Amino acid sequence: DTIGDNFDRTVATFPDNDALVDVAGGRHWSYRALATEIDALASGLLAAGIGSGDRIGIWAPNCPEWVFVQYATAKIGAVLVTINPAYRAHELEYVLRQAGIRMVFAAPAFKTSDYAAMLEEVGSGCPALERVVLLGSADWSGLLSAGRAADPAALADAQDRLSADDPINIQYTSGTTGFPKGATLSHHNILNNGFFVGEICGYTDQDRVCIPVPFYHCFGMVMGNLACTSHGATMVIPAPAFDPAATLAAVQAQRCTSLYGVPTMFIAELAEPGFGDYRLSTLRTGIMAGSPCPAEVMKQVIERMGMSEVTICYGMTETSPVSIQTRADDSIDQRTATVGRVGPHLEIKVIDPVSGRTLPRGEPGEVCTRGYSVMLGYWEEPEKTAEAVDAARWMHTGDLGIMDDAGYVAITGRIKDMVIRGGENIYPREIEEFLYTHPDILDAQVIGVPDAHYGEELMAWVRMREGTPALDAAALRAFCEGRLAHYKVPRYVHVVDEFPMTVTGKVRKVEMRERALALLE
Ligand code: ATP
Ligand code: MG
Repeated sequence: DTIGDNFDRTVATFPDNDALVDVAGGRHWSYRALATEIDALASGLLAAGIGSGDRIGIWAPNCPEWVFVQYATAKIGAVLVTINPAYRAHELEYVLRQAGIRMVFAAPAFKTSDYAAMLEEVGSGCPALERVVLLGSADWSGLLSAGRAADPAALADAQDRLSADDPINIQYTSGTTGFPKGATLSHHNILNNGFFVGEICGYTDQDRVCIPVPFYHCFGMVMGNLACTSHGATMVIPAPAFDPAATLAAVQAQRCTSLYGVPTMFIAELAEPGFGDYRLSTLRTGIMAGSPCPAEVMKQVIERMGMSEVTICYGMTETSPVSIQTRADDSIDQRTATVGRVGPHLEIKVIDPVSGRTLPRGEPGEVCTRGYSVMLGYWEEPEKTAEAVDAARWMHTGDLGIMDDAGYVAITGRIKDMVIRGGENIYPREIEEFLYTHPDILDAQVIGVPDAHYGEELMAWVRMREGTPALDAAALRAFCEGRLAHYKVPRYVHVVDEFPMTVTGKVRKVEMRERALALLE
């Protein structure tokens, strides 16, 4: 199937079901009504001369128009390039040029960024860029009305000519470890991934899924939107950008059955004042993913949010994204200490990152993924693609993991984050998990910092719970001593209000390491 054909089938099966709810804007669309908007926009784009293979950018926070653009471009085979809402002018210019974008849909502004002004500023340096359409503008309405007036046969024809293996998206990675890379993905890649993720969550047309994670990233647009539309479920947008109170209120008001988030979002929701007053009893499942999911946070999500079937997903933009997922009937240990088992029709192996040899179960090494979900490649970067995807089509993830005899995989961290102290390999993840057990610590991150004697030393960054005193290094070391091997006890502690984060809610350890150098001077 192409994304368009799959969407049309859902519309024909569940025309009156709620497809999309915009809580902040107080608007909602049934599948039939959503299809009308999407087809109008798709026809409008065709009438404007946009077709298969053209790159179309979208630069906006989560909003219903984002969804219209996602499916309208998929229907005509245009390649949607999703642009990070946090970008500044020079990053915007880089993507516009790198992906050769012809047309951009943009919110007029978001938070402190004037998108319209930034597009104006960089537009002249982007030769491929012909048109900027601000969402909600007269230009936008014009495209839709032109589409409504057009002959629907043109759209049907365009849709029939597509192949499911055509590229349909360029999604940039989060930029956690450096500059984002543009993963090129096909209908087949992302539609199947969304479908299988939804199937493992048990979605039906009765599910209402609260999606506070950004659409610009595959967590929102694949595990969120495509998982919903391939099962007839409802997409609920709680707010344009993540807000813990708005998310909890949306779950209550919309009677959501599923809730998504990266770990930091769940941590914020659980710590929200008045958390106990929200009625969350409709929640059955959800997904925590994107970065290491602390067992402690998973347990609280199950117990205090009532998400008894919540799953952890592991994956990356390059694999559309999910390759490993826990299942609702896994034991509680399997569901909190591992990321589960390989997804349907995929393969996972763990290798020695140096020799490339496949390791026996139980030995830590680099996780590799193969199967339908592996990207076509990084957009116009064949050398980077060849470094990441080998000749046998294995995606080398750069993540460290261990697979047990039953096939459950524990992710121990990123290769780049591993600390080597006095010859001992240390996985910061293990120490972070331990620090979460301290009653006053809300959130903890551990990095390696240079040390003349040991090569590297550990530094813990912690966020304290409200009203608790800041921990100093001596107190933290006292808490760790006797409970962690001596070489895993952090030498330094730095108490912060916030960690440096990506828009996708991941802690940027590269930036922490840079800032740590200044702290140690
Ligand atoms: P960049 O590649 O630009 O540095 P990124 O890797 O964070 O950024 P994404 O593709 O959004 O970009 O994220 C994929 C990465 O997120 C994985 O490689 C892994 O390190 C981490 N990750 C995702 N899910 C999990 C999980 N459940 N547990 C641990 N880590 C996870
Ligand atoms: Mg990555």
